[in-house]
Amino acid sequence: MEEHDIIIVGAGPAGLTAGIYAGREGLKAMIIDKGVKGGNANMAPVIANFPGYKSIPGLELLKNIGNQAEKYIYIREYEEIVEIQKKTDTITLKTDKDNYRTKSLIICSGTTYRKLGVPGEDKYIGKGISYCSICDGMLFKGRDVLVIGGGNSAVTHALHLKDIGVNVKIVHRRDELRAQKYLQDKLHEVGIPIIWNSVVKEIKGDIFLKSVIVHNRETDVDEELEVSGLFLAVGEKPNSDIASNMGVNVDEMGYIITDKNQKTNITNVYAAGDITGGVKQLVVACGEGAVAAVNAYEELKIVE
Ligand code: NAP
Repeated sequence: MEEHDIIIVGAGPAGLTAGIYAGREGLKAMIIDKGVKGGNANMAPVIANFPGYKSIPGLELLKNIGNQAEKYIYIREYEEIVEIQKKTDTITLKTDKDNYRTKSLIICSGTTYRKLGVPGEDKYIGKGISYCSICDGMLFKGRDVLVIGGGNSAVTHALHLKDIGVNVKIVHRRDELRAQKYLQDKLHEVGIPIIWNSVVKEIKGDIFLKSVIVHNRETDVDEELEVSGLFLAVGEKPNSDIASNMGVNVDEMGYIITDKNQKTNITNVYAAGDITGGVKQLVVACGEGAVAAVNAYEELKIVE
């Protein structure tokens, strides 16, 4: 079985930064990701709050971080972890391709986009429904789409869609947005309409999405809106099942609980990034990844 000092689960901003730090310490380390490097941040149309960049597409920023990480650490993409077990002083990982043993583990498994749970949703994912305006926005140029949600993701997707010539409206279930003020100001500046106090009740179409039934929660009235696309931005849920199955403590929402050194309740097991909840910002994820890797390294030194 392949042996490592540190294995990092997830190649998003937290995992890649942990990888840069672990690799530069000369540790035998690797990152495993069930998809491609970059994680959810690849889908951010524009990032304007990462130090050093006035404005950069998420895909480009994460490509830069990924390339830097690969100078120091091996990244296994498209490899899914099935089970992790902690034995007395080693941790074993079973993936869909292989088995590994490691002294330390850093869990940076991030979050998955939440679904609406309404009729038609599963049928039209990829056929009108998208989670990523940067990936799919151009398909809807000159056409009508709705963005669902009232957070930072919904507003950044709407701004990007408007910018590339899509006719976009936001549907939000309350009468105020939770997105940061500077994003809300931009939204008003460019004049993106918001359908307030409303939720999607049903998604309809033939092969492709054609319309959406929107229910106004105040007036109790349903309206069928003809649209070509629906961008969902209704939040995320933590990917913590594998961690909790090995005994890592999570909070009531499923986010991994850590101390200020990013340590979990299990010795030599750390967590960093969105999987720990709190302020979900790229710079925080990178910071937590660095803290986790430095502390994992220090702990290994003490044992040796
Ligand atoms: P979020 O902040 O959790 O917002 C989710 C939005 O979806 C909320 O407005 C929520 O409504 C709404 N919602 C939830 N369930 C719904 C449902 N079933 N039907 C209709 N609406 C529903 O999620 P996010 O915007 O994806 O952001 C996730 C995290 O990443 C946040 O911490 C955010 O700050 C961060 N982020 C940051 C940036 C940036 O800094 N530029 C960009 C993207 C994301 P309520 O408001 O009524 O709860």
